[in-house]
Amino acid sequence: MSSNGRDPNFCQDCGSVLPLPGLSDTVRCPRCCLCTPVTEFLGREIQSGVIFNPAEQTLLALEDEENSELKGPVIDRRCTRCNKEGMIYHTRQMRSADEGQTVFFTCIHCRFQEKEDS
Ligand SMILES: [Zn+2]
Ligand SMILES: [Zn+2]
Repeated sequence: MSSNGRDPNFCQDCGSVLPLPGLSDTVRCPRCCLCTPVTEFLGREIQSGVIFNPAEQTLLALEDEENSELKGPVIDRRCTRCNKEGMIYHTRQMRSADEGQTVFFTCIHCRFQEKEDS
């Protein structure tokens, strides 16, 4: 954040931590007396809030979906990708009845998924 030197929480001149904006229109650096307009504080806070939240929610939703794939009994089947033992066994009913059940194996180590028709 502060690597580009534009963090509004710090003085752009000397790098001192600035006090929180009060009733006045500017925040004055306690060390070098440089004044930063309050609008710069507010503008940045609103901007980062808008960008941050939707991205975070998308990430959480994806994580939940991934975790639901990892529920079921762990069997000692060897993963063909990472060659370690331990895969989660779970079945999924296909739409038409005569297609039967499809068995899925998900590797607990690398999450590689294998499918087997029964
Ligand atoms: Zn300063
Ligand atoms: Zn694996």
